[in-house]
Amino acid sequence: MIKLEELCRKNIWNLAPYSSARNEYAGREARVFLDANENPYNAPFNRYPDPLQLELKAKLSKVKGVPEDCIFLGNGSDEAIDLPYRCFCNPGKDNVVAIEPTYGMYKVCADINDVEYRPVLLDDHYQITAEKLLAATDANTKIIWICSPNNPTGNNINREEIAKVIESFEGLVIVDEAYSDFSAQKSFRSELAKYPNLIVLNTMSKAWGCAAIRLGMAFASKDIIDIFNKVKYPYNVNLLTQQQALEALKDPFEVDKWVKILLEERGRMMEAFKMLPICEEVYPTDANFFLAKMSDATKIYNYLVDNGIIVRNRNRVQLCQNCLRITIGTKTENGELIAALRQYK
Ligand SMILES: *Cc1c(COP(=O)(O)O)cnc(C)c1O
Repeated sequence: MIKLEELCRKNIWNLAPYSSARNEYAGREARVFLDANENPYNAPFNRYPDPLQLELKAKLSKVKGVPEDCIFLGNGSDEAIDLPYRCFCNPGKDNVVAIEPTYGMYKVCADINDVEYRPVLLDDHYQITAEKLLAATDANTKIIWICSPNNPTGNNINREEIAKVIESFEGLVIVDEAYSDFSAQKSFRSELAKYPNLIVLNTMSKAWGCAAIRLGMAFASKDIIDIFNKVKYPYNVNLLTQQQALEALKDPFEVDKWVKILLEERGRMMEAFKMLPICEEVYPTDANFFLAKMSDATKIYNYLVDNGIIVRNRNRVQLCQNCLRITIGTKTENGELIAALRQYK
């Protein structure tokens, strides 16, 4: 790996971060808080929240098996996707490489930050080799994005190929595992000690059922997390989110139950799709959604909208022509979708 100092933008490496009132006394006991110009009334909302979310990280550390100081928490994965650009990519000069098709936010954030985005097309099985990804890099490539299980294709990217990319690439490799709770493939979180250039993303938005609270996670070396903490907004995760996440973390078994039901339902739905005359192919998936090639995705999509059912039309995405992406809902919701599709003429 290239030295972090060289990978990092110069202005960020040299940045003196904002020091919040709450940071400065940290570690010592206090009873009276007259330091932050808060209103003393209206507890608990009058106080600024913990800028480093330490209580939440302590809990997450146990659930995720990652040391607390190797965890960054953000306002959704959105923040954890944007920050690496702001920290490591010089606008107008550096570039990033990503699999294609994949989650749209990597490119949107590249465009916002004026960073060249280099998509590398997956093969017919929605897989990729390390060799192909590495061939797209050059001396200005700072990041390789790999989403696994991948959105919108649903499948895991071959673990050995991801490992090869991490081992061979001199910059950062970000593996977005937003859907890993639905997958049997081992998380790359367990490899963080081995790979100083690895960043793994998780989110509370999918299996944890907390998309509304906006909590995304990045796991990486302490050195990388320290850079993120320096650049992020001081109070990027609000009190309500921290409280609600702690609440959700009290019952991880509930998540296991949801995942089990959703995987059963996924199996049932994929079988039902295969039986539809208007469905040409159902692709293998490791996530809580699947991709289905239809006779005419856009017509079917519009028909479903007219019936109050929204799926994701991926017809215009490369390698996904005539594909709909179907999220697994409740038994009732799934039943409604299948019933509507059976009536389609
Ligand atoms: C849904 C999704 C996320 C979650 O984003 P949040 O901002 O945490 O809600 C992240 N990555 C991928 C690939 C996703 O599909």
